[in-house]
Amino acid sequence: MELKIYNSLTRKKQALKPINNCVNFYFCGPTVYWFQHIGNMRAFFVMDSVRRAVKYLGYEINHVMNITDVGHMTSDADEGEDKMEVASKREHKTPEQVAAFYWGQCWEDMQALNIEKPEHICPATSVIQDIINFVEKILENGYGYITENGVYFDTSKYAHYGELGGMNQNDKQFGARIAVDEKKRHPADFALWVKAKDNHIQRWDSPWGVGYPGWHIECSAIGNKFLGEHIDLHGGGVEHKTVHHENEIAQNYARCGHEVVDIWFHLEHLMFDGGKMSKSLGNIYTLSALKDKGYSPMDLRLFFLSAHYSKPQNFTFDALNSAKESYANLKKLILKHKSGQNKIEKAVLDELKNKFSAFVADDVNSPLALSVLWEALKNYPDSHDIYNLALDFDRFLGLKLNEVEEERLAIPDEIIAIAEQRKQAREHKDYATSDILRDKISSLGFTILDKPKNEYEIIKK
Ligand code: AMP
Ligand code: ZN
Repeated sequence: MELKIYNSLTRKKQALKPINNCVNFYFCGPTVYWFQHIGNMRAFFVMDSVRRAVKYLGYEINHVMNITDVGHMTSDADEGEDKMEVASKREHKTPEQVAAFYWGQCWEDMQALNIEKPEHICPATSVIQDIINFVEKILENGYGYITENGVYFDTSKYAHYGELGGMNQNDKQFGARIAVDEKKRHPADFALWVKAKDNHIQRWDSPWGVGYPGWHIECSAIGNKFLGEHIDLHGGGVEHKTVHHENEIAQNYARCGHEVVDIWFHLEHLMFDGGKMSKSLGNIYTLSALKDKGYSPMDLRLFFLSAHYSKPQNFTFDALNSAKESYANLKKLILKHKSGQNKIEKAVLDELKNKFSAFVADDVNSPLALSVLWEALKNYPDSHDIYNLALDFDRFLGLKLNEVEEERLAIPDEIIAIAEQRKQAREHKDYATSDILRDKISSLGFTILDKPKNEYEIIKK
């Protein structure tokens, strides 16, 4: 089934048209100078949902995510201090140590949330020469200029600059969002390479003197390195629409002489207390803070799944509690179906699968896809066929439904001992004792399910 995604540039849903069925997918990754909060995690969850949707619908994928470990200023518009430098001063560590630590933390959280590993994860500092080559091409093609501060992109040369964010160059607001730097020809022009001041820690040689890359160039250079001149799908947080992605589009065109990205998609933010959850507002929760409060990463994943990526999602503990309760119910239903003996007609299963796939294919509609899982689990008699269908759906949902069984292994020793006594009683055809022991297990909150050859399974009630 064809995957359609809302393209923020054309403002229409658009079908993916990958060459050789392989989707080239780029997603803007973390800046690794502080812990990632659950707002950031919503972004990576969405990245993962899109990745899973692509695969679920039968495409191959080549997925790239960058790690920003240089050049992202405290303001997105090339102003303020470099975030990595600020962190390394604060923590008395090298920028490399800062990046390694916070990326490690971020990746741990991503794995806990069952986010699949992209084919390529690339730190900006590992591709400085590729970045320099990219900037050289932009200059050669006449889209850049050199000042005493570094190399700038000349936005007036790219006719479509501003279209993604819905602004044009005559729009008064267009330049107002960026303070005018006298060295730039136009207020919206942005740095490709910055000459380092004497006290700047991160620095590399370049044809324009010792310095470091601007933030936006890393994504163009990394995309080009791993995906070439055609990217099917490029995503990121909605705040990237007006500066970062606008700049990427212009850089790509200047380097390649044609548009590079087919579909741009943007996710709306996780909100908390009436504002965007963000480090600068200080209204953040991390995954480990939620774990300390007794929530599991899958509770949070189920919470994320319940909202469409294109809508802001409000974080409240009421909503998280209800996701937690739902996940517990989900696990119970999964176990019931796992041991279910009923047969479900193929036509019924096919219809459910088609319905689910159609929601996934329609702009990755996770809440509606989730509703089909509930429908399948609740509306049909206990059946291993439904269990298998749920595992198939889980290739998109990523709720670790195949691991629910393993939880049953965490049965207390006391219960296992009674179950073993019962097994022996049954071997001796002592069914009266067997029934007493079954009731005992039940009174302790567990159910024992008999299997062929006197085997059994224990599940928590
Ligand atoms: P950063 O590390 O700040 O570069 O952010 C990493 C990713 O998280 C980016 O794609 C941001 O757009 C995204 N992001 C930041 N805050 C939020 C939020 N409150 N909700 C959703 N995504 C966010
Ligand atoms: Zn980016």
